[in-house]
Amino acid sequence: MRICFDMDGTIANLYGVENWLEMLINKDETPYEKAEVLINMNSLARVLNKLQSKGYEIGIISWLAKNSNNDYDERVASAKRRWLAKHLHSVKFDFIEIVSYGTPKSFAATGRNDILFDDEAHNREEWTGVAYDVHNILEVLRTLP
Ligand SMILES: [Mg+2]
Repeated sequence: MRICFDMDGTIANLYGVENWLEMLINKDETPYEKAEVLINMNSLARVLNKLQSKGYEIGIISWLAKNSNNDYDERVASAKRRWLAKHLHSVKFDFIEIVSYGTPKSFAATGRNDILFDDEAHNREEWTGVAYDVHNILEVLRTLP
């Protein structure tokens, strides 16, 4: 069973970085790296490591920028990986999927019980498992068997 996380707007506060949109339009990847965390990362890491030891697979499914080319895609993907390494360094993700903007996230789902946390309603609706908004992420994770 998989537990999947979106990044932007879910665990990373991309939209809280000043001028983030202009910077992305100008193919500047730094907002992805500078984004603040949206939840307590020590608590998140602790619960994820516990769930992984119980057999859950933990992963990231995150989109590249809308305005992209190969060079920018590579820089954005690196920035996102650095963000994860910095803020969730103790979590050994089973998969990190950083895919083109708009890619339906259900490609990474393996079963009807797979969980997705995502701030975008469209992604939650498209998901074939169980999807949650960004509220109460830790509480949801702590109730998993
Ligand atoms: Mg998002």
